Amino acid sequence: MQIKKLSDEALRTAVRGLAEEERRVTLKLLHHLREVERRRLYAVWGYSSLYAYVTTELKLSEGSAMRRIQAMRLLREIPEIETKVETGVLSLTVLSQAQPVIKDLPLEKKQEVIAKLDHCSARQADRVLAEIAPRKAKESSRPIDGKSLQVTLILTPELQEKLKQLADQEGTTGWAELFERMADRLLKPKHTSATPPPAPAVSATRHIPLPIQRFVRARDKHCTYRSPNGRVCASTFRLELDHKIPFAMGGTHDPSNLTLRCRAHNLLGATRAFGPGIQRYWAKLTTPPKQSQYPGGAHPSPSRQRRPSHGL
Ligand SMILES: [Zn+2]
Repeated sequence: MQIKKLSDEALRTAVRGLAEEERRVTLKLLHHLREVERRRLYAVWGYSSLYAYVTTELKLSEGSAMRRIQAMRLLREIPEIETKVETGVLSLTVLSQAQPVIKDLPLEKKQEVIAKLDHCSARQADRVLAEIAPRKAKESSRPIDGKSLQVTLILTPELQEKLKQLADQEGTTGWAELFERMADRLLKPKHTSATPPPAPAVSATRHIPLPIQRFVRARDKHCTYRSPNGRVCASTFRLELDHKIPFAMGGTHDPSNLTLRCRAHNLLGATRAFGPGIQRYWAKLTTPPKQSQYPGGAHPSPSRQRRPSHGL
């Protein structure tokens, strides 16, 4: 098709059609991502989260990935809004703005809020959502690419002053550099001996002795899961110690039986060892009551919940 030869009206019609097609394709992508998440396939493929999979393998930008995942979660909960997305009454951006704000509201209230967002621009939606839930400043963190962490902190004026003095004293210009200097000074030297500390021949309790925990963390450094096609997860976010031979099957706390895994891969290992029932058990422990769902935001999300203990 020669775009330059289209009449103005034909060009307008074509653009409209393409925008509709783009919405249909995006919805299809969300359905597929939902299924990937339901089957936890991102973990099998070597990613610590759906977000890590979408940003790394699908190469979506962080914002774009977050918008799609948040919209997907809202669609899963309120499937009837799909038609609105398909016809352009509700945009993905608006849905992703709404999801973190209304995720803890009862279902009827969520539907009520969504109804107010029809035909809203992002800015108009912001105003509607601010009336419902005035933004409260809160601390938060989210992983970026499974390695770095983006953190939002609330600093009182007193703490700001102290940190400013420290930054002047240290000659640092950025927050990360300042925190790194502070951490370097405060941290005691780690036990990084190449020789593992002795482990009891029989591990009587689930508790892994601290020297062994430190040794394994220093040795492995990141999630060691390797996918069938050889991708190593390498996430450094919320790592847990995992027993290669599960503790419940007689595995010991010897360092040779331990490895570092992110939550997704610790759970994947448990599922393979104990069957899918363990996922239902885990879901029960980590899913809040129906009316206050969700990871997700990025994640969330189940990742915000703490596991009862490592070493299933
Ligand atoms: Zn992992």
